[in-house]
Amino acid sequence: MDLSYSPQEQAFQAEVRQFLADELPEDIAARVKAGGEVSKEDTERWHAILQSRGWLAQTWPEAQGGPGWGPVERHIFDEEAARAYAPRILPFGLQMLGPVLIKFGSDAQKAHYLPRILDGTDWWCQGYSEPGAGSDLASLKTKAVREGDEYVVNGQKTWTTLGQHADWIFCLVRTDGSGKPQEGISFLLIDMKTPGIEVRPIRLIEGGHEVNEVFFTDVRVPAENLVWKENDGWTVAKYLLTHERTGIAGVGFSIAAFERVKALAARTVRGGKRLIDDPLFAARLAEVEMDLEAMKIFNLRMLAEAQRVGHPGVETSMLKIRGTEVRQALNDLYRRALGPAAAVMPGEAPGGNAAVLAPEDEGAAASYFNNRKISIFGGSNEIQKNILTKAMLEL
Ligand SMILES: Cc1cc2nc3c(=O)[nH]c(=O)nc-3n(C[C@H](O)[C@H](O)[C@H](O)COP(=O)(O)OP(=O)(O)OC[C@H]3O[C@@H](n4cnc5c(N)ncnc54)[C@H](O)[C@@H]3O)c2cc1C
Repeated sequence: MDLSYSPQEQAFQAEVRQFLADELPEDIAARVKAGGEVSKEDTERWHAILQSRGWLAQTWPEAQGGPGWGPVERHIFDEEAARAYAPRILPFGLQMLGPVLIKFGSDAQKAHYLPRILDGTDWWCQGYSEPGAGSDLASLKTKAVREGDEYVVNGQKTWTTLGQHADWIFCLVRTDGSGKPQEGISFLLIDMKTPGIEVRPIRLIEGGHEVNEVFFTDVRVPAENLVWKENDGWTVAKYLLTHERTGIAGVGFSIAAFERVKALAARTVRGGKRLIDDPLFAARLAEVEMDLEAMKIFNLRMLAEAQRVGHPGVETSMLKIRGTEVRQALNDLYRRALGPAAAVMPGEAPGGNAAVLAPEDEGAAASYFNNRKISIFGGSNEIQKNILTKAMLEL
């Protein structure tokens, strides 16, 4: 196969690079580079800039407001955006619910919700996981009972990313408990302002507030908010997850992180010697570089295949595992390259180390700890290995 971009793809890459140079606000890029939390306002500002160029809903068909890109264009954008330290596009409305509504939603649901996702009116969050239902998602218990024109919802969701900002949540709920666990699940859209909803923060290991618990007590939801058929929400849920895993390897993030670690090691002097010339550090760096190069090639192979057949295959599981391992290894190297000063968390009294760290490096420890999550969410790496094993052994 040809591993280089075609002339058209190279022209597109140059266009994206120029767009980022012209349009990505410097203050936002600086915050992303420093590894801190990106605010709701930053995300909304960036979304609006992308939307004004028609590049926001990257996986949607053109008829619904997408840019008409294929997997290669999306990959090029991701790679360039990560290099430029653009914030990630928030996936819940744009990359998860949007494609679901386009495939399974009623005409009325499409007409109402899709434009509001595009113009930023509605901030969505994902209500799949529960305290007893993560990897084993089908064992979820949040119940929705039909009463006339409404469902009455009771139960709890957890790990709800950015639910504290959300206007709406899309939820998997149990509408029938009599059959197999996968049967009797429905996909419901719930307004977060409905009485009976309580959002409680969960602090992550680095102290950030990114995830929440969401409690539902007698929450009344109009029956018209059901997407697709009652008790067939599992079909919708699985379709959404294939979109969740696309791009999850974060190749662009790893390329940017690698360049950053290499530059840091080249300018850091320890014991009279540049860190990059230290044999142990250089060997570690070379190992990650080889893994990253292999992953880049594998990613391009997978993109070519997805372009050919129209959807990503089971190989996304392989990419997810290797992609997250490489990202975590780079976080580790970055922290090691910074030395003891990297142990300081944002907001922590830094003591004598404060002068050592450049502002853009202050978030190193926070990023290291925060990125423990990437091998867990979107289907943990162990679950991805199960998926691969089943596919390879044709079980
Ligand atoms: C930062 C963060 C953000 C998240 N955001 C959201 C969100 O917005 N919305 C949402 O719905 N969910 C979200 N999640 C939840 C995420 O999808 C789950 O954490 C994930 O599916 C794992 O489920 P669990 O945490 O219940 O772990 P468990 O399923 O209890 O797993 C615990 C451990 O056992 C392993 N394990 C479990 N089953 C098997 C098996 N069959 N074979 C081998 N190993 C197994 C797992 O790999 C894991 O290491 C988020 C999670 C995190 C950490």
